[in-house]
Amino acid sequence: MAAKKRRRRRRLRKEIRYGLYVLAGLLIVWGLFSLLNGGKSQYGKEAARYKQKNCIVYYPKGSAYGKEQAKSLCEGVEEKTVFDYALVPYGDYYLVDYGKAAYLVTAEKNDIPELVFGAEGQQILRDYLIYEAKEAHRPEVQQLSFYEENAAYETHGVRDGKLVVSWPDYGLEGEIPLAYLQKDLQMNFGYPAQEYQPPHFVDPEGKLLCLTFDDGPSTQYSPQLIAALRKYDARATFFICGYRLTKEAIELTRQSVLLGNEYGSHTQSHPNLTELSNSDAVAEIMTPYNDLKSAYGYEMKLMRPPYGAVNQEAIAQTGLTPILWTVDSLDWSLRNGPQIVENVKAEAESEDIILFHDIYDTSIEAAVDLIPYYIQEGYQLVTVSELRAIQAAR
Ligand SMILES: [Zn+2]
Repeated sequence: MAAKKRRRRRRLRKEIRYGLYVLAGLLIVWGLFSLLNGGKSQYGKEAARYKQKNCIVYYPKGSAYGKEQAKSLCEGVEEKTVFDYALVPYGDYYLVDYGKAAYLVTAEKNDIPELVFGAEGQQILRDYLIYEAKEAHRPEVQQLSFYEENAAYETHGVRDGKLVVSWPDYGLEGEIPLAYLQKDLQMNFGYPAQEYQPPHFVDPEGKLLCLTFDDGPSTQYSPQLIAALRKYDARATFFICGYRLTKEAIELTRQSVLLGNEYGSHTQSHPNLTELSNSDAVAEIMTPYNDLKSAYGYEMKLMRPPYGAVNQEAIAQTGLTPILWTVDSLDWSLRNGPQIVENVKAEAESEDIILFHDIYDTSIEAAVDLIPYYIQEGYQLVTVSELRAIQAAR
């Protein structure tokens, strides 16, 4: 008697479970329709129309019972437009993958979460739009408005851990790793905390310029410059002095490296290397190198000797490549933003390496003007190592 009761209870539980699958399926169908309706609740009307084309029901893959349920729910719909799902856990969410597309749903499987991008998320969307446009060789990249506007975008579900985004005005599509977006969206997709590194595309056939900045880092002036570079998908090379590397300054370089900027040694204390013994000169060059390496594993490839005074033998011992400049902005003597801008515009041509110092407000003022100017003129502002790699590949 008790055994029979137990069996009946078990069967009942089983039925409840199947019932829940169907319920979950219905909730997901409702969720998808809500999405298609832009969140409006015209469920019935829209669903009826949609059902003529597609039917999407969740049932466990390979479950014959679930498939029967799906068929009955999708009665009258063509077999090939009936989809089944795989549910993939994504942190606090599930990915509902039905082959043709995949959507995130909440853990309760009853809702498609709305993606609300904050300021950082908007910047990431813009970075990817610029990247896609450059890769597609689209001329509107040269328009500054492209960098200023928050272009209209649409999201199209998830593919391989990346959010599929399109920008209808530009006819472009991109994929942004969810790992980069989870912090800004305040959603946990189950990825370990990962710092954002913007995508970057350089056309080796295009015009190239290197902006280089000596004598920093300056926690007072460099951040404004780094922000301007980021805004215009530009990169620069910084030759830094070890004596300026406070904890705060090291963190500044680390953030800047994530954005793609390059760091080289400008020695520890800015001496004339030709007046030092080789061993002292090597120590001068390698101290900032070791500081960044021990702080976050960064390995400099380049160095710039103070005053352009090259101690060939000592530099050779460090293994770093000495980089001088082809255009001097004269920022150290002019100390006037507009005059520095004028001087650089008159002197610089493609593939020049321009010398600045990011320790004067007037140098920053000039650079912040020159960055959008050169972007508008169709130049790509690249690091010295990027320029050298392109030149070496010819
Ligand atoms: Zn210097």
